[in-house]
Amino acid sequence: MTTLAEFLTARYNEQARKAMAASIGATSKDWRVDHEPWETNGIGIVDDRDNSVAVAIGDHVAKHIAGNDPKAVLADIASKRAVVTLHSDGGESPGYLPDGGYGMLQHACTDCGTHGEWGIPWPCLTLRLLGAVFDEHPDYREEWRP
Ligand SMILES: [Zn+2]
Repeated sequence: MTTLAEFLTARYNEQARKAMAASIGATSKDWRVDHEPWETNGIGIVDDRDNSVAVAIGDHVAKHIAGNDPKAVLADIASKRAVVTLHSDGGESPGYLPDGGYGMLQHACTDCGTHGEWGIPWPCLTLRLLGAVFDEHPDYREEWRP
């Protein structure tokens, strides 16, 4: 059965592939809004070498696209992957049971609580909050919902 960490890794892999695919044709993954006039009514988005990568309708849309360029998306994914690694399954530990009592957990987070004494059930709230972004994915499980 897929763990929440595996599920998140799969989603981040998908997002990274999309970001890399979006940068094909651009000379850079670092995009910005081009304020030079365009032939169309659109607002251009260019990479940091002034190569055109997209045209948007409206300045706010252009800023959103440029702000979510492949460089930003890949940096965001790298940060989230680090959080997933930090909050990994540390295995059995005494700790806080889901019913509020104290006892032996089968899976405790390596970062939350004190593993080996006051563990927090894994997947912890941090991972479940990361997972909630993908709650409409067919592989998302309701037991992960924060
Ligand atoms: Zn945790």
